[in-house]
Amino acid sequence: MNETLTSPVPTATARVAQMFPTLTSTQVERIASHGRRRATVHGELLYDIGTLPVPFVVVARGQVDLIHPEDGTERLIHTLKPGQFSGELNLLSGRRALARARARERGEVIILEREELLRLVQTDFDLSEILMRAFILRRVALMEEGLGDVVLIGSKFCSGTLRVREFLSRNAHPYAYIDLEQDNEVQHLLDRFQVSIDDIPVLICRGDLVLRNPGNAEIADCLGLNESVDSTQVRDLLVIGAGPSGLAAAVFAASEGLDVLVMEASVPGGQAGASSKIENFFGFPTGITGQALTGRAFVQAQKFGAQVLIASGAQKLTRNRRPYAIESSTGQNVQARAVVIASGAAYRKPPIENLSHFEGAGVYYAATFMESQLCRDEEVIVIGGGNSAGQAAVFLAQAAKRVYMLVRGDGLADTMSRYLILRIEQDPKIELHAHSELTALEGSNHLERAQWRNKQTEEVRSREIRHVFVMAGADPSTDWLKGCLALDAKGFIKTGSALSDEDLRDASWPLARRPLLLETSLPGVFAVGDVRAGNVKRVASAVGEGSISIAFVHQVLSE
Ligand SMILES: Cc1cc2nc3c(=O)[nH]c(=O)nc-3n(C[C@H](O)[C@H](O)[C@H](O)COP(=O)(O)OP(=O)(O)OC[C@H]3O[C@@H](n4cnc5c(N)ncnc54)[C@H](O)[C@@H]3O)c2cc1C
Repeated sequence: MNETLTSPVPTATARVAQMFPTLTSTQVERIASHGRRRATVHGELLYDIGTLPVPFVVVARGQVDLIHPEDGTERLIHTLKPGQFSGELNLLSGRRALARARARERGEVIILEREELLRLVQTDFDLSEILMRAFILRRVALMEEGLGDVVLIGSKFCSGTLRVREFLSRNAHPYAYIDLEQDNEVQHLLDRFQVSIDDIPVLICRGDLVLRNPGNAEIADCLGLNESVDSTQVRDLLVIGAGPSGLAAAVFAASEGLDVLVMEASVPGGQAGASSKIENFFGFPTGITGQALTGRAFVQAQKFGAQVLIASGAQKLTRNRRPYAIESSTGQNVQARAVVIASGAAYRKPPIENLSHFEGAGVYYAATFMESQLCRDEEVIVIGGGNSAGQAAVFLAQAAKRVYMLVRGDGLADTMSRYLILRIEQDPKIELHAHSELTALEGSNHLERAQWRNKQTEEVRSREIRHVFVMAGADPSTDWLKGCLALDAKGFIKTGSALSDEDLRDASWPLARRPLLLETSLPGVFAVGDVRAGNVKRVASAVGEGSISIAFVHQVLSE
């Protein structure tokens, strides 16, 4: 209490009313029926930064300050008045508090524990809308202001820094960032925490724990992202992967009352999370960023009670017992009566160090009307010798000035349909470069120049090119399933009618019925989205498959 309060966090007036709404007395009474009332005294700490579990607090009488502690001082976020409430998204996910709540005067509060709050938002639609909107806006404001429980010291020239920033941002975890190149005060921090420039990126968690160039699992551990997940509990459903298909499965399953755990090897959002704008998803006529779409789905799944393990990949499925057991990369052994595999596919990427920097800003994995408009009358590169690359080259040549096709082999004959080869040969705008590979990309915020090399002649070419289309195919994330489920020749999971009698015999399929739609060669184990053989590699189909798989999960759970 000897710390001083600095001025409130500036927030746009229009948003404040939605971020800190005042509930009516009837609404407060409805909340009170889910929890308990208690008196508060002047200066009483209701919870602190790092507290777990965090209570949900509604002010009935008096005032409560929400505070962000900062280096010996306190920054006032907001003073809650009667009818206002505390909390943000961490309440739903069961993670540690990112702020401090302290009674400003004698009064009375209503306290709900997390389970009680979840029941409230699942059953009271009026309050759910007000609370969810406030929680989301508060998290957005915390992220904008960098008001979290971690400080990242890094450099914009260091790829490790970019990785950590992406991990934090895609987990929507607020953090303060100090760049070595731009901040004069940084040496003071490095000295204080006894770290050197060679240690960067350095993450300082909750003021004292120092992590030097930490891996994703280490960061998740330090931030307590998985702390509230009980991995010893036998679940109705385990979903592997939190891309669009896995999140859709989790939303539907949890909303229909199933006990769901999602296991995600990296960050929620999958490939779609890396998309700067999805223009072809139903219901978003002006497009939506992949992160916004999947971020909402992530919150929605948690609202219905689904739990998510972050930076914890499935490594082994034990197939000869029910409930099934899945081992994770972080040592958990989770059991579930049904499993939905939504581990997606990873597009093959040329091994260029700064490739990810230009993803969405000159490097693309799709060639739709939208991308073609970006490269009107410009020169572009298409990488790949398969049908998708051929289609892209022919399509882009309609708008672009020139299309350089880079293929690693002799030509296209072995990898592409004849009709496409003919079109490419007849199109004067397409220039085929055999035995060629991309070697460098240059630019600041957007790609400006690309370089490639002919492996046979060693000739290197460099041109002012702002658009590179990578169509080098995608590898399914199924290495961990080999020998466990029937896969096709490329490693995608076979399901439903794609499973032949031979597949089922080899897999010792034990039931009189055949596999259901989306069911794999193991009863009660389903595959959805990009990881499934025959899937159309799109966000909409991933979401559709994830959603409908739950109807079949219900069927096998009742068998
Ligand atoms: C840059 C880019 C832009 C795109 N733009 C569009 C677009 O505009 N429109 C469109 O329709 N489609 C687009 N796509 C394709 C679309 O994103 C995919 O079809 C979609 O994301 C597939 O969803 P999914 O959930 O099946 O798989 P993914 O999105 O691949 O998600 C799979 C998830 O599983 C996780 N995972 C993998 N292995 C494991 C494991 N062993 N254990 C636990 N978790 C695991 C991954 O980390 C990932 O988060 C784009 C793709 C990319 C890369």
